Amino acid sequence: MIRRFIQSVFGKRAAKPAPARIYPRSEHGIARERISSCALKVTDTLSGAGYAAFLVGGAVRDLLLGRAPKDFDVATNATPEQVRALFRRSRIIGRRFQIVHVMCGRETIEVTTFRASGNGADEDERPTDEHGRILADNVFGTQAEDAARRDFTINALYYDPAREEITDYHGGVADCRARVIRMIGDPATRYREDPVRMLRAVRFAARLEFSVDRATRAPVAELAPLMGNVPRARMFDEALKLLFSGHALRALHQLRAEGLHHGLLPLLDTILDDTTGERFIHAALANTDARIRADKPASPGFLFASLLWPQVLRRWQAAKEAGEHAMPALFAAADEALEAQREALAIPRRFDGMMKEIWALQPRFEQRGGQRPYRLLEHPRFRAGYDFLLLRAEAGEVAAELADWWTRFQDADETERASMLVRDEASKPRRRRRRKKPSGAGAAEDAADIGTDSAAA
Ligand code: ATP
Ligand code: MG
Repeated sequence: MIRRFIQSVFGKRAAKPAPARIYPRSEHGIARERISSCALKVTDTLSGAGYAAFLVGGAVRDLLLGRAPKDFDVATNATPEQVRALFRRSRIIGRRFQIVHVMCGRETIEVTTFRASGNGADEDERPTDEHGRILADNVFGTQAEDAARRDFTINALYYDPAREEITDYHGGVADCRARVIRMIGDPATRYREDPVRMLRAVRFAARLEFSVDRATRAPVAELAPLMGNVPRARMFDEALKLLFSGHALRALHQLRAEGLHHGLLPLLDTILDDTTGERFIHAALANTDARIRADKPASPGFLFASLLWPQVLRRWQAAKEAGEHAMPALFAAADEALEAQREALAIPRRFDGMMKEIWALQPRFEQRGGQRPYRLLEHPRFRAGYDFLLLRAEAGEVAAELADWWTRFQDADETERASMLVRDEASKPRRRRRRKKPSGAGAAEDAADIGTDSAAA
């Protein structure tokens, strides 16, 4: 009653004022020079037009921690149309909640209008599903409201480049210093609103080497199954961010240590519970982490091929033991493994081509006689197939000698290569080639060239 009265007098959200703390440059130490010129242009233009404009989210957090931000997001009180009108190279994207992409050079700055959130209290009128998951979140709001709807305190900092001040409504600066991931508001409610936040907590903890605050961690074990209600494409995006965070291995160990991997990522359930594939998965994730941290490209297709490989391998071996020929058995195993994960994690089909090619190349690395190694070198996916072979060798799945052979064969000159060929294998392929039907190992080469539709990734 009283709350209703206060709300009716002071407006809907006046009952929950969030006093902000302002940190001047002398206290936060962020140098303007570390901010992209594009982001500065956007905030300068917006404030020049009389709007409020701040850097927000990951960029402010990373700057405060002395890390290089991945990208710069801007929050403003200007509406998307007002933003759009100020920048020639900009476009409005999104239907339900619109944001504006402003382009300068090759950079894109995402500009978002302050959004409101009831933060789970009973004045929250956003539509939810029966578990409390917010289905529509499209009301403009004040800066304080915008801060309250963000996930963690360290992600709710606003940096004003003109005044060089940080505005902090939820103790995010202190949490950055204490290296703590802390949910804004009541953690259980916030996870119910958006279960993906459980995965985000783990991702940030692993990437930043922060701990997760006790109250923030507590409800996760019980609420983890709610992840199942999140649209698959969105789960996939968050999973991708975790796997390509540069700290995937640590994140996954953390998930498992806390018993949280069940239901969080169905793919990971299978992977992490499967001790036979563990060494391989471990090698693959360590490899991806190292590449990301060294700023080298890492392809999702390759990583997914690795994550699913133990399942493919198991199905493949079972089929071979049941008397099927090697290559058809491998293709059937590949299709089954892809189908089995489709329901759960929904790895998009665009990665199928690359995964299948990498898998199908593997038996070809065993053939080291005649023209075959030369033809394999020419295959467009040779490099990916070879990198995959190295992981298998590292995991003890194939002989290190085989991987070494291919390492040397690539660098060798013509005479050396000729001397490396394994003679007694040279005649085998010819015999097999006479078969009419593309079955048995002889079909490997042709079959491995099928499914090259996915040059992307
Ligand atoms: P990264 O460096 O990985 O991009 P980030 O903090 O920028 O980290 P984004 O996923 O890019 O993370 O999101 C940008 C900001 O939007 C976050 O900092 C946070 O304030 C807010 N945000 C993103 N996802 C959520 C969510 N599920 N719930 C609440 N706020 C969110
Ligand atoms: Mg970001």
